[in-house]
Amino acid sequence: MSKTLIIGAGGVGRVVAHKCAMNAAAFGEITLASRTRSKCDAIALEIKQKWGVTIKTAAIDADDKIALIALIKESGAKIVLNIALPYQDLTIMDACVEAKVDYLDTANYESPDLAKFEYKAQWARNDAFKNAGVTALLGGGFDPGVTNAFAAFAQKHYFDEIRYLDILDCNAGDHGYPFATNFNPEINLREVSAKGRYWENGEWIETDPLSVKIAWDYPQIGEKDSYLLYHEELESLVQNIKGLKRARFFMTFGQSYLTHLRCLENVGMLSIQPVVHKGVKIIPIEFLKTLLPDPATLGARTKGKTNIGCVFEGVKEGKKRKIYIYNVCDHEESYREVFSQAISYTTGVPAMIGAKLILEGKWKKAGVWNMENFDPDPFMDELSKQGLPWHIAEMEA
Ligand code: NDP
Repeated sequence: MSKTLIIGAGGVGRVVAHKCAMNAAAFGEITLASRTRSKCDAIALEIKQKWGVTIKTAAIDADDKIALIALIKESGAKIVLNIALPYQDLTIMDACVEAKVDYLDTANYESPDLAKFEYKAQWARNDAFKNAGVTALLGGGFDPGVTNAFAAFAQKHYFDEIRYLDILDCNAGDHGYPFATNFNPEINLREVSAKGRYWENGEWIETDPLSVKIAWDYPQIGEKDSYLLYHEELESLVQNIKGLKRARFFMTFGQSYLTHLRCLENVGMLSIQPVVHKGVKIIPIEFLKTLLPDPATLGARTKGKTNIGCVFEGVKEGKKRKIYIYNVCDHEESYREVFSQAISYTTGVPAMIGAKLILEGKWKKAGVWNMENFDPDPFMDELSKQGLPWHIAEMEA
């Protein structure tokens, strides 16, 4: 029987733990481990009460490879779902290679000391995973994750060649706070305050942070200003979707969020450089995280919907074609099901599905892979069944 280890008990970890428990036949005995064990215990209690499934819990510092290997062995896991932070990706990957178990994450490796993410260090582990005969699936949340699978699905069924790709991410949820982030504040603010970047005619074009804006009409939400950001799935998609001439990523932000962001940046609160305050070294963005609402607590108060999708333009049988594939997710419905808001829900559900497909052998392939490297069909089937139904609209090309 399969056994499963989940690392990280934040907003997304909670959803993953619930969804794995709801699919216990595939995941077998589940262990949820994080730095703070009490968070795992609270989630385990919810799961017992809601789904009648008992899961184990453990404390782990995922920066400690030796401790990780011991925990993987003790749990008997066949797969590790890394739902901690991007800082832990490499240690957890290396522990999986040594313990010879499969691996999945939802975010690209980043060093705490450098606000930059790229797949280089994770792709460099391809031979190690191949030699150990185990699978690593990178970026298995929504974006990256589902957006990559949408691209593979469009490529497989709708196009001979995709030329233009726009990923459009809208969170129209309202949590009632003047300023809060929907997932880990440090990771979120590092991403949003970085320079924008998109792919055009074989090269990366850099833009000033949040300087490029379009208005997009999101189904079930309406028109929203959407800002160009660099997002990690672009790096693998421009390699794996052949013929792409342009690939961009846009995300919506409300005016209150943008005003706070600018102000915090102007006073240096987003800096990752240490400052000395009354003789104590602090990193401003880490201190800010302490002040901001914990994203894991937003679920109960968030109303509204998210809409994340991809617009593809290209050709099929000599004719121009344009399609839009998207999912709409409701914050309150997500909370009713698994006590989390829709950002955590739309990340955690795909992560569970990716892991399920690996355990079932459908996505089992030794090496390090991104989502679009696998057959999208079983994944798209599961998405609809597991709470994230998707829609396809043909548009005028
Ligand atoms: P949270 O900050 O809510 O949770 C992170 C969890 O990781 C916490 O439980 C924390 O433990 C744990 N953790 C951190 N460091 C360690 C460590 N050294 N050892 C063990 N556990 C550790 O983050 P989220 O749940 O919001 O996000 C989780 C991941 O999902 C992030 O990597 C984020 O980037 C990614 N994400 C991906 C998305 C996608 O669509 N692909 C979208 C949204 C998020 P403790 O609480 O004890 O400190």
